[in-house]
Amino acid sequence: MPLSDELRDLYQQVILDHSRNPRNHGELPPPCLHAHGDNPSCGDEIDVWLRLGDNGVIEDLKFKGQGCAISQASASMMTQKIKGKSKDQAASMREDFRRIVMGDGAPQDEDALGELVLLEGVQKFPQRVKCAMLAWRAVEQALEGK
Ligand code: ZN
Repeated sequence: MPLSDELRDLYQQVILDHSRNPRNHGELPPPCLHAHGDNPSCGDEIDVWLRLGDNGVIEDLKFKGQGCAISQASASMMTQKIKGKSKDQAASMREDFRRIVMGDGAPQDEDALGELVLLEGVQKFPQRVKCAMLAWRAVEQALEGK
């Protein structure tokens, strides 16, 4: 299904804005969880730092990275959406986001993803799915202590 011109403009604006002005950019001081992810096929790298509360809520998280606009914008938007959420909620959001970018079934709670749904266009570019998922996989690794 082709994107309307309006939606394509919005998509480009949002991606560019987040990649140029990443939200929650930086590192957290220890003690915290950390993971590094890379996507050699595109040259993207992401480091994430998370602090979990006693109740399993992601109290704070930050990221640093380099690479294509999609990888960095996805990371920036992700940090805004999963901050304050529980580990379980973040895992459901990751699965919903994966469905959207891979075109693999309907998400359970599309509203929770907000503007992240604008990245659904990458499903036409399988190489770009790894870019979009990179930060999410890094968070998963950090939470599981891998
Ligand atoms: Zn990339």
